[in-house]
Amino acid sequence: MAEETQKGLSEVERLYRDYGVRTRELKNQGERIIAYFCAFVPLEIIAAAGFVPLRIRGDVNEPITKGDVELETIACPYVRSSFDVALKGRYGFCDGLILPHSCDSIARTYSVWRYVLGFPYSHFVNLPHTANSSSMEFFKEEIKMFKKSLERFAKKEISDGDLARYITLYNENRKKVKALYELRKQDPPLISGSEMTKILVAGLSLPVQEANDLFDQLLEEIKKREATKKKLPRVMIVGSTVDNHDFISLVEESGASVVVDSLCIGTREFWPETQLTADPLDGIVDRYLGRINCPRTYIERKKGDTYQDDLERRFGDIGMFVRDYNVDGVVLYMYKYCDPFGFEIPARKAYVDSLNVPVLYLEDEYLSGTTGRLRTRIQAFLEMIE
Ligand code: SF4
Repeated sequence: MAEETQKGLSEVERLYRDYGVRTRELKNQGERIIAYFCAFVPLEIIAAAGFVPLRIRGDVNEPITKGDVELETIACPYVRSSFDVALKGRYGFCDGLILPHSCDSIARTYSVWRYVLGFPYSHFVNLPHTANSSSMEFFKEEIKMFKKSLERFAKKEISDGDLARYITLYNENRKKVKALYELRKQDPPLISGSEMTKILVAGLSLPVQEANDLFDQLLEEIKKREATKKKLPRVMIVGSTVDNHDFISLVEESGASVVVDSLCIGTREFWPETQLTADPLDGIVDRYLGRINCPRTYIERKKGDTYQDDLERRFGDIGMFVRDYNVDGVVLYMYKYCDPFGFEIPARKAYVDSLNVPVLYLEDEYLSGTTGRLRTRIQAFLEMIE
């Protein structure tokens, strides 16, 4: 009986620990797999072309060795780790690779990925850095080219109906993630931050319908839980891509409940939905360029805006989550050499200060061995907000 009530969570553990296990199974059954990076590759188009998308992850437990022979060590450690494990063959079974122009660490290394790894198919999604009407027009042309290039590789035309079907499926996926996050609003939350990270990562390695079925099962299982833990300080993590549970577990082991985030594998990715528009590409362009709140996309300061207005426009989602999830403290967690987030630290910190919520800034490598040294600072912060 206990096994039955944990079926979804056991599956999450399997998918998280042996990342890509299900896509390898599908590959053996004749499916074609496309590996992709970051939150800016339109998954709806990959799936509509008949491929299974697999989000590229790094590995915090694997020292970067081979990767550093090919890439500069001053690049983002998450990108370097992902490249290192790719070089060691972890994504060798994939049929293609797609990288978007998210940040310099991804854009400037695309040619190295392409040249060294030699996937049968590769494509670079050229995403502009501003979200005004002319860049939307430009991006629509880019998306059309991307669609055509995938159609050529798939030897299949993608119809508007195919796109609409996958837009609906991915929106369902995002809604189910939001329903899981709802279970964290309780105090104490029904689901921990580290469990949530594993669930999201596991979902990113599955075809969307399978991820939706898994999330339904998890919702059923977790809703039956009884809150037994004691109430702890409620913490929000703000940063870029956290695709492993190590840091979040460290914060929780130090005496907090991680209840919400502004992370790439988190609310940044799963909150915006794709509108079903007459031309489905319009909804896709609008979501990926206009709705994902990441510092890689420049948000213009409006004439007459005060500094606080500007902060609200750029970071208002953090304020919304702080209020909705009753957050006691915010941890800004950044990777070394992550320029887009690094440049914004003073402004993000000023915004959280303006909410009168305590904030802790931490910079880390992307390596589990270095995370433990942050423990004392996290403990001191939690003592302060208790
Ligand atoms: S962590 Fe920062 S530098 Fe690295 S890929 Fe993400 S945005 Fe780019």
